[in-house]
Amino acid sequence: MASGLRMIVGPMFSGKTTELLRILRKYAIAGYAVVLVKPSTDARYSASKVVSHDGLEMDALVVEPSFTGLARVAELLFEHDVVGIDEFQFFEYSPDLVKFLLNLSSEKLVIVAALNLDFRGEPWEVVKELLPYAEDVKVLKAVCTYVDQQRRKCGKQASRTQRLIDGRPAPYDSPRIMVGGKESYEARCRKHHVVPGRRD
Ligand SMILES: [Zn+2]
Repeated sequence: MASGLRMIVGPMFSGKTTELLRILRKYAIAGYAVVLVKPSTDARYSASKVVSHDGLEMDALVVEPSFTGLARVAELLFEHDVVGIDEFQFFEYSPDLVKFLLNLSSEKLVIVAALNLDFRGEPWEVVKELLPYAEDVKVLKAVCTYVDQQRRKCGKQASRTQRLIDGRPAPYDSPRIMVGGKESYEARCRKHHVVPGRRD
């Protein structure tokens, strides 16, 4: 049986959820018991399903995003062959959480999808702490949607997530977690990722 830890990281609109669902479906079709977990903070689209931006969907087990939340469903997770976790950046970091996932992935195949960086361009601690343990890391990129004053699109590979408030770049001190879609976020390359008030 497959085991190990695989991670899918990238900015918003890079297809992380689509990639996660694609892999989980492949294992489900091959007859493996597959379960998908998502943090309860992500109320986007649906409470009990994971839906990718392009409309793929799958039933999800909603947990409190912490070690305690995962520990509560541990028995259920260990009953499956493949465990997917979406929006992993929303989980609260603790050494216990990392230990739990290492334990789980020594017996099961665990596939974790997460944002690489927050809107400020800074790493999520929980992602940063788990990443080195992954046997396989897939880094996805989006397309930079910055448009200049001559209305030319950038179109370079985007590794950052730009938060917008009323169409303007969100300041550094705006809250770290703010769930939203295309109206409040855009994929940007490094050059066009703007965070007013950032101490560089
Ligand atoms: Zn750009």
